[in-house]
Amino acid sequence: CHFKFQSHGFIFMLHNLSVHPSVDVPDTSFASFMLSKYEKHKNLIAIENGITGETYTYDQVITKTLKTASALKKAGYKAGDTVAIFIRNSPEYLVIILAASALGLVISTVNSSYTSFELCRQLLDSKSSAIFTNPDLVPLVKEALATSSKINIKDIFVLGNHHGCRPLSSLMEDDGSAFTELAPCNSKEDTMVLPYSSGTTGMPKGVMLTHHNIISNIIQLNIFPIDEKERLLGILPFYHIYGMVVVLFYNTLYGAHIVTLPKFEPEGFLSTLQNKKIQMAHLVPPLILFLTKHPMVEDYNLCLRQILSGAAPLGKDLCIECTERLGINSIVQGYGLTETSPVVLLDLPPVKYSSVGTLIGNTESKIVDTKTGQILGPMESGELCIRGPQVMKGYLNKPEATAEMIKDGWLHTGDIAHYDENGYFYITERLKELIKYKGFQVPPAELESVILTHSDVQDCAVIGIPDELAGEVPRGYVVLKKDKNVKENDIAKYIENKVAPHKKLRGGVEFVSEIPKSAAGKILRRVLKDKYLSGK
Ligand code: ATP
Ligand code: MG
Repeated sequence: CHFKFQSHGFIFMLHNLSVHPSVDVPDTSFASFMLSKYEKHKNLIAIENGITGETYTYDQVITKTLKTASALKKAGYKAGDTVAIFIRNSPEYLVIILAASALGLVISTVNSSYTSFELCRQLLDSKSSAIFTNPDLVPLVKEALATSSKINIKDIFVLGNHHGCRPLSSLMEDDGSAFTELAPCNSKEDTMVLPYSSGTTGMPKGVMLTHHNIISNIIQLNIFPIDEKERLLGILPFYHIYGMVVVLFYNTLYGAHIVTLPKFEPEGFLSTLQNKKIQMAHLVPPLILFLTKHPMVEDYNLCLRQILSGAAPLGKDLCIECTERLGINSIVQGYGLTETSPVVLLDLPPVKYSSVGTLIGNTESKIVDTKTGQILGPMESGELCIRGPQVMKGYLNKPEATAEMIKDGWLHTGDIAHYDENGYFYITERLKELIKYKGFQVPPAELESVILTHSDVQDCAVIGIPDELAGEVPRGYVVLKKDKNVKENDIAKYIENKVAPHKKLRGGVEFVSEIPKSAAGKILRRVLKDKYLSGK
């Protein structure tokens, strides 16, 4: 099939090319790339601690980076060593990443809500030799270190003070003498960051992203420019690729002012948006759901005008309800994976709700039939595969998983998608989470977006449960708004009237007080499934 035609600048052929012009990616190190950009807005505020109000200008970020790099060098850290960052969002996060990267260290970001067991697993897998953490997390770190003699952590650097740990402030106050130049780097080979995938579908995997991967993705995002001094919220966890690259790295290139919050807490979230006069926020669907449905939002005077969403599906109805309630311009959606640094697809204003937009520059895609592997055309549904400079080097210590994910240079996303005649993409569901009812495929995310249109529903999730005759049937879990008296059956009936017969909630509806979600915004369907199967 060498058939090729062009519509609105989008090229269909064996595979799809981006509608955006391709961009040049310099062959340099991450630290060199970022610091040279920071030089341009030295006197502007780069990052602010939303809790304490402490701010760093871009100039201060540069100085603290060079001093910290010098101190780390004196402490014996050298190019190729891996250091773990196990701290909640704060301005220091940026400095640690830049300083470690300036020395050529690999940075492994750790989910700050991990247990000692999970932390131990990542420290072992990543072979980290130092850890940066918050004082209150030190006991957990020590517990993790005590679990295995194979962990080789030389220093615990702490943001504040804790007995037996070295304060990060002492690194930032170093005389800078030991750091004379940025470490040389082979940008396409050297791993810069080692985040772990979210672990939504299985065990989290260490994702090796090179300097080239990260710089490429930052440059590819240039199609969505940010105003200098733009005030942005930094609430998405910086350990996750979305918070790290899109919020922290990309926006600071433009001289934006990021206000960090260590975790989601309704009052703190809303009062920060209000008091810091935040106009743009990068969020995930659960936070958008909160802004759309929660009554306490009415008590605040927000001046948000733009929301960006990614990491999980966001239905069209919820987008419309949210923009109307908040009076904002639009919600821009992006799609990506840890394995793609992360962005692959991005919608731009004027947005097309329900679509995750078009391919960003330098990126190619193909949709393949999941059974035959055949390449499909517009409006045909199959697995989305990606090729581009943002695609990871591979998984750490997992050659088989890497080979399964990247075949013939194409990254297989595991997501079911299709595109329209104009090159807009629509993500239906994860291949692993599609419910198979009598051979029909039922995407849980679609049912969830329909349930959310019920005026009494605060939140929901859908899973497939085993059924002898049908294979699987969809079952709904619903959180009701306060003081609502609907019955489980009313919700099932409501759905029945809105969807094709094979999508009915034949597995029943259960009212729950909360839907299990990860901090990166994903519904943890496997938690609900395990609970159901174990009869709890
Ligand atoms: P694991 O691979 O360990 O199971 P994970 O895939 O959830 O975890 P991430 O890399 O954080 O880890 O998430 C990537 C996935 O998130 C994508 O494969 C896709 O399923 C989902 N995703 C990201 N953006 C969107 C979006 N805009 N709409 C729908 N799904 C999205
Ligand atoms: Mg994944």
